[in-house]
Amino acid sequence: MLTETLDQKTYENLVTVAYRKSKPFCYSCCKEVKEKNCSSCSSDDNMRLLDGVGVEYGIEWVIEHLVSENCAPIDDEYAKESLTSCYEETVKIGWIEYDMMSAIEILDPISYRIALDEYMDSLRADGEIVEVDGDDYWVSDIERFVELNLEEAA
Ligand SMILES: [Zn+2]
Repeated sequence: MLTETLDQKTYENLVTVAYRKSKPFCYSCCKEVKEKNCSSCSSDDNMRLLDGVGVEYGIEWVIEHLVSENCAPIDDEYAKESLTSCYEETVKIGWIEYDMMSAIEILDPISYRIALDEYMDSLRADGEIVEVDGDDYWVSDIERFVELNLEEAA
């Protein structure tokens, strides 16, 4: 859950942006709600509508969608490059020379996978990245997205 991994202020700002970018929607009447309550059935138990995406209860899915649309997920390549720069030496097998991580990737894919996962875990533990809907994102990217959108509306 993002509530546990992001700092409170960033999460609250994300919620604010998510509410601004989505609209209340009455499921029973199948229509947009202009005020707090539905004009037909006066229910305030509204879903959130995101144009062109869908309509669901809750705000978490809106946040997940906004992050995945506006921030770039971190892929394995990033972790590999970072780890490669930690091991400057190369390995030579016969006449073939590899950087350390590429050699491990070929020789022991499981150990390689564990090294990448542990590296990403350390970034998560440091609060530098967060997992959103199965992908990892830079917290700084999310903060930038939030700042831009809060400014636009101000
Ligand atoms: Zn209604």
